[in-house]
Amino acid sequence: MTPERLARMRAVLDKRQPDLTVLLERVHKPHNFSAILRSCDAVGVLEAHAIPPKHGLPSLEEDGLDLDDKTHRETSGSATKWVGVRVHPDLPSALAHLRSRGFQVLAAHLSERAMDYRQADYTRPTCILLGTEKWGVSPEAAEAADGHIRIPMLGMVQSLNVSVAAAVILFEAQRQRLEAGFYDRVRLSPEQYQATLEEWVARHARGKG
Ligand code: SAM
Repeated sequence: MTPERLARMRAVLDKRQPDLTVLLERVHKPHNFSAILRSCDAVGVLEAHAIPPKHGLPSLEEDGLDLDDKTHRETSGSATKWVGVRVHPDLPSALAHLRSRGFQVLAAHLSERAMDYRQADYTRPTCILLGTEKWGVSPEAAEAADGHIRIPMLGMVQSLNVSVAAAVILFEAQRQRLEAGFYDRVRLSPEQYQATLEEWVARHARGKG
């Protein structure tokens, strides 16, 4: 590994935000999943969360989301190498995990009670919950969320593609965090930093980084 490559990894880790994440509820289309991870990488999400597609449907990998597959890598610009994905078996376990870590869960959901996404405070530990293309956020997840956020839609179509919605919201979070100086200091614990760096270096050594 060249010193430049190592320095680049450190520079990226210096900006990672361990308290900003997404929860993808049964988002199963590989290109959407990949595009969301790419935005996560760009704003500094350390780890994303996912609940695989429902009742007996294949796991994420079997459903076409092979994190190492070529199409997926090409779509994501290799973002999956740099953003970990923690898979939860179901909604209750995902929420329990996130809440034990102090995250507010904001559902990107076009409901009556949704606020404009720019009104939310993303400097708090925040998880953005996103739903499937067809069904959106499930009623259970919408009910359990701490709040709903919406991106105003002023055109003829009702909603955005999920990866576009994720990007719009994540970059508002980035804007708020830039303003608050969150990218000016290392936010990972020394243990998190070291563990992630070692993982990235090992990946590089295996020829995947
Ligand atoms: N028919 C679905 C529904 O009724 O919710 C539309 C789902 S939309 C294509 C996929 C996901 O993208 C949604 O579950 C939501 O998380 C997010 N999304 C899309 N447009 C959005 C918007 N304008 N505001 C907030 N979230 C949005």
